[in-house]
Amino acid sequence: MRIASWSWGGRDHVGIVSADGREATPLLVDYAGGATLRLIETLARGEALPPPNGPRVAVDAITLRAPIPRPRRNIFCIGRNYHAHADELAQSVFRDSLPKEHQWPMVFTKFPETVIGPFDAVRLPGPVVSEQIDYESELAVVIGRGGRNITAARAMDHVLGTTIVNDVTARDVQVRHQQWLLGKNCDTFCPMGPWIVTADELDPRDTRVRGWVTPAGAEAELRQDASTRDMIFDIATLIESCSRGITLLPGDVIATGTPAGVGMGFSPAKWLRSGDVVRVEIDGIGAIENRFE
Ligand code: MG
Repeated sequence: MRIASWSWGGRDHVGIVSADGREATPLLVDYAGGATLRLIETLARGEALPPPNGPRVAVDAITLRAPIPRPRRNIFCIGRNYHAHADELAQSVFRDSLPKEHQWPMVFTKFPETVIGPFDAVRLPGPVVSEQIDYESELAVVIGRGGRNITAARAMDHVLGTTIVNDVTARDVQVRHQQWLLGKNCDTFCPMGPWIVTADELDPRDTRVRGWVTPAGAEAELRQDASTRDMIFDIATLIESCSRGITLLPGDVIATGTPAGVGMGFSPAKWLRSGDVVRVEIDGIGAIENRFE
């Protein structure tokens, strides 16, 4: 099942997109922005979804929003979680970090307000803030049933499904402040979507993540291409770590880290410019595509 959020006919809706990605069936009108979370809580309790609340519409005719347009709290994000990415930034972002063999994952967060739709524009913050804007193609896990101190052995039972995020980053800001909060949280820095694919339809532990950059006026370049099997800490371990002493809630999002191939990993680095388009595709989910301007 694909859970999506969209605007159509002057209203926001939450509902289900067909398996071929072509039709959307509304279940709830999203009056106050929390309808996806209500739907996730319904599923987490093992209850039936509400009946359709309007006519089926073509996905081409609607404007997809992020599946959770405004998460109830910060998104958990994992830093340095693919071996080749750890190596490509070993002398820059990760220079002063503990060795990658360290047994605990790096965790930071993004504000709910950074989230934008799967095809919305990302706003460059301008040269006064940053001249080193970078992309990070990532699989994101959406928690269904909440819990605290979840063991890795039971962790996958808490996964409602997965979606895609681009963990957009201002590298100079990220490095300048040592703590990553500011460099990861400029407005619009978390494109998300196009929908949540539930765990019964996709095993996120073994799928392909790809990221393309189309520089303004040029051909698309495949920059990132990896399997989620290459994660340093697997999804179950990430859920175990993020829930240690912290109650995870239905609808919490964990962005699981990016593979190698980010702009900073090239020599010279390839920063995003106005007019560039970044596409992130994950097999079994779909793709998001965002223009930077
Ligand atoms: Mg990231």
